[in-house]
Amino acid sequence: MQALEDVLQHATTTIQLVTDLKSLDNYRVQYLGKKGQLTEILKTLGQLPPDQRPAAGQKINAVKEKIQFLIEQRTIELQKAEIEKQLASESIDVTLPGRARGIGSIHPVTKTLEELRRIFSHMGFVFMEGPEIEEDYYNFTALNVPPLHPARAMQDTFYFNDNLVLRSQMSPVQIHAMKKMRPPLRMVAMGRVYRRDFDLTHTPMFHQMECLMVDEHVTFADLKGLLNQFLGEFFSVDTSVRFRPSYFPFTEPSAEVDIGCLSCKGKGCRICKHSGWLEVLGCGMVHPNVLAGVDIDSERYRGFAFGVGLDRLTLLKYGINDLRALFENDLRLLKQL
Ligand SMILES: [Zn+2]
Repeated sequence: MQALEDVLQHATTTIQLVTDLKSLDNYRVQYLGKKGQLTEILKTLGQLPPDQRPAAGQKINAVKEKIQFLIEQRTIELQKAEIEKQLASESIDVTLPGRARGIGSIHPVTKTLEELRRIFSHMGFVFMEGPEIEEDYYNFTALNVPPLHPARAMQDTFYFNDNLVLRSQMSPVQIHAMKKMRPPLRMVAMGRVYRRDFDLTHTPMFHQMECLMVDEHVTFADLKGLLNQFLGEFFSVDTSVRFRPSYFPFTEPSAEVDIGCLSCKGKGCRICKHSGWLEVLGCGMVHPNVLAGVDIDSERYRGFAFGVGLDRLTLLKYGINDLRALFENDLRLLKQL
């Protein structure tokens, strides 16, 4: 009887002092579990004289019920405290102002793309697209670069296999265009191209625009006039333009086009390597072999084409000097533009 009183006394005190549900459950096991203190006392019941057993049994049950009740009460209290604690920590002040969202802006390369789309659609060019995974035929052979031609080494191309490449230029879209449409035709294609190159001025993926015009009386003078118009409008300055003889397999004659340096106006500075000129694009009259390859009579029709790097145009227009800045998505740069 004394042992029971002690257990009850001890339980009453400890249960009130428990502060978490886990410890409370440990005490439950300690008092009421299969190896708990009450069970141990219950086992000694058989040692009592038979006439004392009923009273002792009743007493044990009463203590057991009392402890169970205490534990239940304490459980409810602790659960309530826990909920209140959670509510306090998660409370929301509905009078606080909302979080402001940053306003996005259009990426500078996208701006260039939109600007060129505007300029060339005003001049009557249609816009075309082609696949980024291209057949060797369109990327090279049809552009007068047959297998084993040394010009293939001019571009470090990504090959999937002998027949499929990641297009290394936008010129293949010319071939798709001339196969679909008969002259007279004016088309422009803009998109991503890929080369195995990575340094200050090269990234493995970059953007190009290809422009093609084929008609009966197209001359190099038309090409020059178009480029003057386009470059002047794009850079919105009266910049000088010059042509330097060059070589591309798919044009003959071919030229590189430079514009007067935008930052020093031709006087010479670091950006133009003190030459006063900036290289912007390559162009030329479409090679008769290319026309013949798509069944266009090169005696009757002539064409010109040029290809220009959109990333380079963007760098020049906004005065950025590291090509990689265009691909890093640094918000500080994008916000400035
Ligand atoms: Zn300069």
